[in-house]
Amino acid sequence: MSLEFCSKPLSSRSKFKPKGGHRCYLPKDHKGKCSEFPFLAHLVKYAPRVAKKIVRDSIMTTGAAWKSEDAGPNRIRRWAMLLPDAELLKLGINMSKLKPIIVSKLREKAAEYGACMSVAQKLAWLTYGIEGCEAPPDPIRQYLEALFGRIMPNTTTCLVCKKPISFALFHTAQRGKAEIETSHSNPRLHTTVNIGFAHRACNIAQGNKTLEEFYDWIAEILLRVGYTVTKPS
Ligand SMILES: [Zn+2]
Ligand SMILES: [Zn+2]
Repeated sequence: MSLEFCSKPLSSRSKFKPKGGHRCYLPKDHKGKCSEFPFLAHLVKYAPRVAKKIVRDSIMTTGAAWKSEDAGPNRIRRWAMLLPDAELLKLGINMSKLKPIIVSKLREKAAEYGACMSVAQKLAWLTYGIEGCEAPPDPIRQYLEALFGRIMPNTTTCLVCKKPISFALFHTAQRGKAEIETSHSNPRLHTTVNIGFAHRACNIAQGNKTLEEFYDWIAEILLRVGYTVTKPS
């Protein structure tokens, strides 16, 4: 499945703009104005917080719990994390002042602009598969289905525990945090096959492990406390 994009560069004043600039993601030869996130046009109106979350989580490094001086910028464009330290210093980010653990956490979130945009598209596709989400208008459906296949209502599950996710959970907040988070099967790969939504509790439990490592870890615990566990083949 594929879709050719217009790809015209869009003007941007951000000092963190990607190499080659932001681009138009409308289909090639489209009519009207260029747009970077046309696939979010419906969600922006119907569920603005979800649309904002998709943009933020696909292009920014995740917010850090660390808030101290040397903790560093907690949200930064993922593609900026591909730049060498000297380039980042010119942009006002002094990597040498950060603790090595913070540097490695930021660096492992690095991703090219194109990969971030594909992740945003996949998250939009997954959103329309969530139980309780309104169906997309036809042009958006066709766009997303050309990329990822049919949108099936009520099929999006938590990436970690595989329970169906309900749309209402996007809005239930505990201590200011949404109950649904963006999550990665392998936390070090920001790609469409690795991305999904997960319950906040499941995402926290998985931590920095890959899903496979996480399930093995749980299985070992269960075995130690007396459960019978069989690994699926
Ligand atoms: Zn365009
Ligand atoms: Zn879950």
